[in-house]
Parts: sequence; structure tokens; C-alpha cells
Amino acid sequence: MAFDPELIAALHPRVVAGAELERAEPAHAAFQAATIDALLHGRYEGDLKIATLLRHGDLGLGTVDHLDGELIVVDREAWSARVDGSLRRVPGDERTPFAVATPFRPDVELAVEEPLEHDALLALIDRNARDPAQAVRVDGVLDVHARSVPRQEPPYRPLAEVVQEQRVFDLRGVEGTLVGFRFPTVARGVEVPGYHLHAIAVDRSAGGHVLRCRLRNGTVRIGAVTDLHLELPPGVDLPAGQPNVDVDAVEHRG
Ligand code: ZN
Repeated sequence: MAFDPELIAALHPRVVAGAELERAEPAHAAFQAATIDALLHGRYEGDLKIATLLRHGDLGLGTVDHLDGELIVVDREAWSARVDGSLRRVPGDERTPFAVATPFRPDVELAVEEPLEHDALLALIDRNARDPAQAVRVDGVLDVHARSVPRQEPPYRPLAEVVQEQRVFDLRGVEGTLVGFRFPTVARGVEVPGYHLHAIAVDRSAGGHVLRCRLRNGTVRIGAVTDLHLELPPGVDLPAGQPNVDVDAVEHRG
């Protein structure tokens, strides 16, 4: 297994297993189940328990078993946005095939009083981010163009095909929260490069994967992510084609 040296410089990635899977993350570390590459290739079978994920962080996103919705971790709760955008609470014994979570510690808090379009919101975060990887939380009144995906059954098709069946919907003027991350392009394959945000309404009536959004007013909080801890399920390897850098061999005991 190998990590890209540039990724090591940016995020200090490390594969964790065994007892470490049960341990809480330190501040500014993110914990991740599997890789985005594995999900793109159609590995939708849940592996890591949601209860375990929640021990590693109070803010995050991902998906759930059988790709049955968009996972939103907020305030130590896990929710899944179904294909129609409605929400259900995800029980702790359900499993996720891909998720990222962090114990969110904002370094920067910005009040937004005038409406910010999607690109302006991301530019505001970019201007205030000192490290390449950031955890993001936005609370306020939002317009969100969102999507979710339908539950899948084996044999699983690649995500690019499944996304053709995504449903898109709009949340207008909702009191809500955006949660997610900005990862550097060197994290490609392991993580979604750039911004990945999920939305959830404060009244837990709706949510989804953010395609575009507009913050009418609210608060933007960002916190650096300087360490990435990865759980690799059986059969999931680090993305191929990267230079060889020794990483301690691990066995899966999830
Ligand atoms: Zn998403």
C-alpha cells in the first residue's frame, strides 16, 4: 500500500485498524471509512458501523449501506437523506461503505449578513483557509439544489452509472446546516478533491448532497484537517499508480 508523498505532506494519512478503530480522533484529524475510489467502483456494501463512525467525529458525510441515501453527520447524530430528500435517523448498528467524520473544532468563524452565491461562499472559505484540507460547517438560511441516489442491489454498478438515476430537489429558504470538507487535489482517489458538502434542515425534514447552494445569511465555520486516518475494509486498497511509500501493513478487524 502506498500514499502519494504530496498527500503525506498535506494530510499525514495513516491507515488505522484494531483498537485504534474504537478510539476518538484528536482535534484536526479526520477519520474515513474506505476510499472514494472504492465507492466509485461500486463497493456499496456497508462495512464500518455508524456507532463507530460517530465515536470518531461529530461532523461529516458519506453514504450508507447499499448506497441508500446521502449520509449527514451533524451534532453527533447520523442522518440519511433518501432519494426524495426526506430524512431518516441512521441507527448505530447500520454500516457505511464510505464516510468521513471529524471532531469539529472551528479555527475561523465568519458572519454572513448579505446573500452569498455558491461560488462566493466557497471563495470566502478559500480566502480564510490556511491549510489545504478543511472541515466546513455553515448554519443559516439556505437555498440548496441537492441530490440523492436510490438504494442499490447487487450486482452493483459503478457510481457514475447510478448517479444517472439521482433525483434532484430544491430546499428554498430553509433554516439549515451544511457539513463537509475541502480536500486538496492530491487526495484524489482517497477523497473527493475540492468541496464536498451535504445539507440538512434544522427541523430534520430534508437534506441531500449539495450540487449548488446559496447562503442568505448565517455563520460559516471552518477548521483545519491536518491528519487523515483511514479504515480500509477487506478488498479496498489505496488508489493504484502512486509512488511507493511504506505504510505499516494492517489487518482488518472492523
Ligand atoms: Zn455527497
